[in-house]
Formats: sequence, C-alpha cells, structure tokens
Amino acid sequence: MLKCREIVEHADALLAAELSPGRRMAVRVHLLMCRHCRRYVRQLQDLLRAVPQMHGRASDAEVAKVVRAVREHDKDA
Ligand SMILES: [Zn+2]
Repeated sequence: MLKCREIVEHADALLAAELSPGRRMAVRVHLLMCRHCRRYVRQLQDLLRAVPQMHGRASDAEVAKVVRAVREHDKDA
C-alpha cells in the first residue's frame, strides 16, 4: 500500500497518464481508500485543467515537446 506522500509525488504523473499500469493501479487502490488523497488529486486535476486557459492554447512545438517527453518516459518504464 502506497503512503499518502507517495500519492502526492505521483499525482501529476497519474493525471498526465505517465504512470506504468502497475503504478497506476497502486495509486487507484490508495485513492479508493483515502479520501484525503482523492481530494488532493481532484484539486490538482482542476488546477491542471485551468492552466491552459491561463496560458492560451499550447503551440505545436509545445505539444511536440510534451509528446516526446512522454515517449522518452515510456521507454524507461
Ligand atoms: Zn492518502
């Protein structure tokens, strides 16, 4: 069972769908049982949704950069 601190560390990766399936499952199990972390993840999710609206749309170059970073990450996983 993951600790709350680990959920906080992995929350942004979870929301960006960057976690390995096993990791994601462990986080989900924790979220089912821990309402504090559920609330934290939900707030982070709301924040991430709000960010693009503050910055305007991402440019193609920015999108490509993120896609490349995710691909690099998958190679290590
Ligand atoms: Zn927790």
